[in-house]
Amino acid sequence: MNAPSELSLSDLVIERVGFGIFVVDRDFNVLMWNRFMQDHSGRPAAEVVGKSIFDNFPELPRVWFTRKLESVFQLGSFAFSSWEQRPYLFKFEHDRPITGGVDFMQQDCTFMPLMRGREVVAVCVTISDVTNVSVMQREREEAVVKLQEYANRDGLTGIANRRFFEARLRDEYLRWQRYGGDFSVLLFDLDHFKTINDEFGHVVGDTVLRVMAQRVGEAVRAQDTFGRFGGEEFALLLPCTTLQEAMVVAEKIRKTIGDTPVDVEGVSVPVTASVGGAAARAGVSAYEVLINDADAALYSAKRQGRNRSVAFT
Ligand code: GH3
Ligand code: MG
Ligand code: MG
Repeated sequence: MNAPSELSLSDLVIERVGFGIFVVDRDFNVLMWNRFMQDHSGRPAAEVVGKSIFDNFPELPRVWFTRKLESVFQLGSFAFSSWEQRPYLFKFEHDRPITGGVDFMQQDCTFMPLMRGREVVAVCVTISDVTNVSVMQREREEAVVKLQEYANRDGLTGIANRRFFEARLRDEYLRWQRYGGDFSVLLFDLDHFKTINDEFGHVVGDTVLRVMAQRVGEAVRAQDTFGRFGGEEFALLLPCTTLQEAMVVAEKIRKTIGDTPVDVEGVSVPVTASVGGAAARAGVSAYEVLINDADAALYSAKRQGRNRSVAFT
């Protein structure tokens, strides 16, 4: 720009305003370059004006930028680009701590046709620093993901909670209804857990629940959904699994739980579990039926003396 004394009021505004303004002609030569652009690029107007923008900024996305400008020259209408589509045009540093997770200043850009009569003689580009907005939005998105995660997890054991388990079960049921195949549900309940609480205390009981959940979680497949159904009752959804196969898993879980007592602060706490299993089959009219069936089988396992698995028939 010209020497300050010769600047008009509008020139002064353009020079001072808190966002980038520059103008290019049809050959992408820079006609104007304001203070914001100068401060953030480290290139004074004297170096930039009169030369192709690509000479000074080879890192610009040339194809994209050219296409954007061409369309403004041809159509004579405004164009925009938001940080969400393209995080930045120029690699400018931002003034946020590096921990913010963004590498360069995030930018919203507008492309304005400058008309003389009906002809577009130049395009004015504005660059707004939207780093703060983008960081806040990213943080908000991350928080939502975390909240969703917490909403699906059981606080004590960290495995799926009942709500999430039932949602997965419903999805699996609907898939099965449409495409057929197999899937099974296991419910298991720790035996005489009240006695464990009474004998060792509630804190030890909590630790036992955590250790059990971890052990079983490691024993099942990634495709299975393992959830805490309530108190000391757990559920396992086994996709593509027949009742017979499910009962093999039931025995594996029963042994995983019963074979090794849980060590809590030097105290060895023996734990066993009873398991009930049910599989999707003709006539099952809702996913809740499978839970009831597995629960009936579990009740039967308890009545038969506990520490065993029973299939619903
Ligand atoms: P059964 O073999 O018939 O299942 O006997 P049980 O004692 O396990 O069954 P009952 O349903 O009578 O008692 C369950 C116990 O589990 C009672 C309750 O105090 C305990 N419990 C439930 N949730 C928790 C928990 O989060 N932490 C602890 N420590 N105990 C729990
Ligand atoms: Mg119990
Ligand atoms: Mg119970």
